Amino acid sequence: MLASACGSTSSPAPARATALADTDAATPNPSAPLSAAAARTIQRTAKFTVTIPPAKPTLALAGRTITIDPGHNGGNFTHSQQIARLVPDGNGEKECDTTGTAAPDGYRETDFNWDVAVRLRALLKAGGARVVMTRDSNTGVGPCVNERAAIGNRAHSDVAISIHGDGGPPGGSGFAILAPAPIPSRSDQAIISPSAHLALKLRESLLGIGLHPSTYDGRHGIAPRTDLGGLNLSKVPKVFVEVANMQNAADEAPMERASFRERVAHALAAGLTHYLQRG
Ligand SMILES: [Zn+2]
Repeated sequence: MLASACGSTSSPAPARATALADTDAATPNPSAPLSAAAARTIQRTAKFTVTIPPAKPTLALAGRTITIDPGHNGGNFTHSQQIARLVPDGNGEKECDTTGTAAPDGYRETDFNWDVAVRLRALLKAGGARVVMTRDSNTGVGPCVNERAAIGNRAHSDVAISIHGDGGPPGGSGFAILAPAPIPSRSDQAIISPSAHLALKLRESLLGIGLHPSTYDGRHGIAPRTDLGGLNLSKVPKVFVEVANMQNAADEAPMERASFRERVAHALAAGLTHYLQRG
């Protein structure tokens, strides 16, 4: 969540299920008698050909709108004045945005957030969802936190998720899901209960990939917050996910691995899907 600097951008090709139709060229008319050679050909084909089924829309995701907010932005590091200006956060004022944290070796939170978001987008779209991103690159500036909420609202999202890595104490570790808590105006009242439900589903899916709840933030991995414009101003169910603590070496090392980011994206997709499956 907090400030720091450095790192590089990576924007992987989204892992997306692809339909491959290269199997059946040697398959004869099933009613015709087979020659020995044809039988051997089919045997070889059957043994060495793998068919990947096309991704099918799931009932929970098809036609649903999901807003993904990859926290911060790569250009924030060089536009400190622009992101320091105050904007309304629903419960007062807050800086437009921050740079986000970075690991001691320079790997930036914004790069992690962006990469996981792109992977998550691919998974949700493959499931039939309409996905709206709050930013379309990892090299721009902003948008401000209030605008990030507004993007999710304007899209009439069924659900929204903000992806982060935390800048916690080096001795602390684990994920925290930041959920909206009642603010004095009570303008977030309608999203509190569904967002809490979303937090539970995401906690379940993050536990499912072997992550543990934060040792320093919230209770059992969930932290109610009233100071985040991205939550206070949201009209749609929304949480922030602090996937791990980038200041803790054991937490952070996997964050630099594409395989870990892919697992996180799958867990977030599963949590969102389970949330949308509720009655
Ligand atoms: Zn952050």
